[in-house]
Amino acid sequence: MFEADSLRDNIARLPEVSEMDVMRHYIALSHKNHFIEKGLYPLGSCTMKYNPKVHEHLVRHTCFANLHPYQHEDTLQGALELLYELQQDLAEISGMAQVTLQPVAGAQGEFTGIKIIDAYHKAKGNTHKNKIIIPDSAHGTNPATCSLVGFEVVELKSNPDGRCDIARLREIVDENTAGFMLTNPNTLGLFENQIEEIAEIIHSVDALIYMDGANLNALLGIVQPGKIGFDVMHFNLHKTFSTPHGGGGPGCGPVGVVEKLVPFLPVPMIARNQSGYYLDYNHEDTSIGKVHSFYGNFAIQVRAYIYIKMLGAAGLRRVSENAILNANYLMALLKPYYHIQHEEYCMHEFVMDGTKQKKEQGISALDIAKRLLDKGYHAPTIYFPLIIPEAMMVEPTETESLDSMNAFAQAMIEIAKECNESPETLHEAPLCTPVRRVDDVRAVKVLDPIYQIKD
Ligand SMILES: *Cc1c(COP(=O)(O)O)cnc(C)c1O
Repeated sequence: MFEADSLRDNIARLPEVSEMDVMRHYIALSHKNHFIEKGLYPLGSCTMKYNPKVHEHLVRHTCFANLHPYQHEDTLQGALELLYELQQDLAEISGMAQVTLQPVAGAQGEFTGIKIIDAYHKAKGNTHKNKIIIPDSAHGTNPATCSLVGFEVVELKSNPDGRCDIARLREIVDENTAGFMLTNPNTLGLFENQIEEIAEIIHSVDALIYMDGANLNALLGIVQPGKIGFDVMHFNLHKTFSTPHGGGGPGCGPVGVVEKLVPFLPVPMIARNQSGYYLDYNHEDTSIGKVHSFYGNFAIQVRAYIYIKMLGAAGLRRVSENAILNANYLMALLKPYYHIQHEEYCMHEFVMDGTKQKKEQGISALDIAKRLLDKGYHAPTIYFPLIIPEAMMVEPTETESLDSMNAFAQAMIEIAKECNESPETLHEAPLCTPVRRVDDVRAVKVLDPIYQIKD
């Protein structure tokens, strides 16, 4: 087969490395990054919590891993049963009538939900409805979603207490209002406690209320959004129901709706009759259509299913109770050292800020976040929500122990002291990481890492 003249005369001098060296090389590389198994990951709004290893074990089982989406329904009964039950469980958790599992991210869930609101109005001939009201504390994906679907976004300023300004809401609502989009708990970590009033105002003009439920970590077993006035909501399975996430996925953003919006849900739904489980295209003519191929992100759905079944109703409620307790505990420890605008009890996260350090020593939230990397932690979410200057949004989650939270608080307190004693350390941080301060703007714009290093 080989031409003799194309063979080498001598064996190629390729570098040889032992298995041990290769292994150590990759383990060392992996430790240059931060991950939940390495330490607390207080990235507010992102819910970086323990991902049970049993999920990973089971989802790789050949019964799940070897399925093919083109298989006939008859051969997929077990998988369809799992999806059907997950739809039911999420409907029960949220108090919604029906849930679709198709969207593969929180943002895509928002898109699906707002498309449903759009379809509802079109079906009623409400063609003048072109505006959606969103509080200024909203997650950035909310206004982006509304624009993408073709709505005009009207901003609602927050009250001094960090919640919706109801008087202002009454002023800006009109016949053109199609909907209202609310994150609950909001991005300040506060429960929006005026839902019934908001619902009355919004429903009085036949508009609908969307709940961004990405942060359901605080409400499990405590509040059913579908029972207190919300019409549509999305879940972030990859946050609340625990899946390794970040860096762009994979995710799953199911959407739940009240009864009157069921006809607009994406097709197919997973349904059941006497002969078993099947893909239901019954409401195809009113549906907004498909929003993702096949079943969505099946492997994430399997993980969420296991999580829900392992914890049960009482366990899910304990998740939220402990998430709230942990956040309040940390807030109490850090309050003497960092300014906190909304000091009342928080939900599963809280927002402190660096305004005191900024004013007194010229140290920014970014400096503090970078210094935290030196202490072996991931940084909190910073400069978000936008309405808090020098914001640092902390979400410990329910899976951190008392010891690990005390250690994190200790690191934050040490940093507060360093701000007074050696402010220059803060400006130069991080000092101990493999890469020092990167050019954030370039890192986003220049995607070729080799190019970045050469420069
Ligand atoms: C994370 C998050 C989203 C977006 O979810 P993705 O899965 O990242 O698209 C939307 N709203 C809130 C409040 C969130 O925390």
